[in-house]
Amino acid sequence: MRGAIIHAPYDIRVEERPDPTIVEPTDAILRLSAACICGSDLWPYRGINEVRRPGPIGHEYCGIVDEVGPAVVSVKPGDFVVGGFFACDNDCPNCRAGFHNACQNFQSYDGCQAERLRVPMADGTLVATPEQPPAELIPSLLTLSDVMATGWHAATMANVQPGMTVAVVGDGAVGLCGVLAAHQKGAARIIAMSRHARRQELAREFGATDIVEERDQAGVDAIRALTDGVGADAVLECVGTGASMIQAIGSCRAGGMVGFVGAPHGVELPIREMFTRNVGVRGGMAPVRAYLPQLMDLVLRGVIQPGKVFDHLLPLEQAADGYAAMDERRAIKVLLTL
Ligand SMILES: [Zn+2]
Repeated sequence: MRGAIIHAPYDIRVEERPDPTIVEPTDAILRLSAACICGSDLWPYRGINEVRRPGPIGHEYCGIVDEVGPAVVSVKPGDFVVGGFFACDNDCPNCRAGFHNACQNFQSYDGCQAERLRVPMADGTLVATPEQPPAELIPSLLTLSDVMATGWHAATMANVQPGMTVAVVGDGAVGLCGVLAAHQKGAARIIAMSRHARRQELAREFGATDIVEERDQAGVDAIRALTDGVGADAVLECVGTGASMIQAIGSCRAGGMVGFVGAPHGVELPIREMFTRNVGVRGGMAPVRAYLPQLMDLVLRGVIQPGKVFDHLLPLEQAADGYAAMDERRAIKVLLTL
């Protein structure tokens, strides 16, 4: 089969890889319907995160079950399935508490930007649609593997409630999905922080009521100005840098909560400011499996269309061009067709 391999920073090649096979009786083999490039794939792409090189890359997927091991009971060949960006048993104490990201049997995948994929613990990891979804829903279903679930997690961790004013730091695909999640959870006002026209437009389409273009202290001042000097009731931090976290905490009202989902790189929390204003910070890696059934239902009923974050479609063979487009921010998110 064909699959993307990272050889070095800025060097992605699509090459021949061995077809995956059933290794454990709990495995499933999928024929992927589509794959995509994540903002977090850019950390190894830029050489900031150490990864095995050369090595397969990609962690978001959806597709058709081709084969299952003898112990698999919840999915069968022919089912259309989505799984989170890691495999989990859905049964250990952490999974049962809704934090599948800390599954005691957590496993990562061997490269999802490929034609086929071995999914460990298929019963715990995969959720099947009731019937074959129409092709036009595949991009939205694919986002449930990571970005949409991660945006949803930010809004959940920030405790977004109906009627709230919510600020979203970050206009990448996750931030935009955070806007959609806040809207779905009933936020009355959603302030998206973005300085890119196309991203602002999509944010408005997803439910943003206001746009703030300023960053850092000027961005905080703009949020305060829009909220009678108070700050937002809840803030979604969807970037993961020190500056974005400071901006998120500064934009939050006294007693409010910042939900953070940007993988932290160089973040230090201003504990004195948090103490003085009772601002909370909660979040982390999204427990995708916990949200999959609910989000899948919203997509299948046409209530949400998170697939709109894909503004570039390329064949898998051109994955390298997709990485470059994401790296240069020419693309919000790239879908790789198979
Ligand atoms: Zn578990």
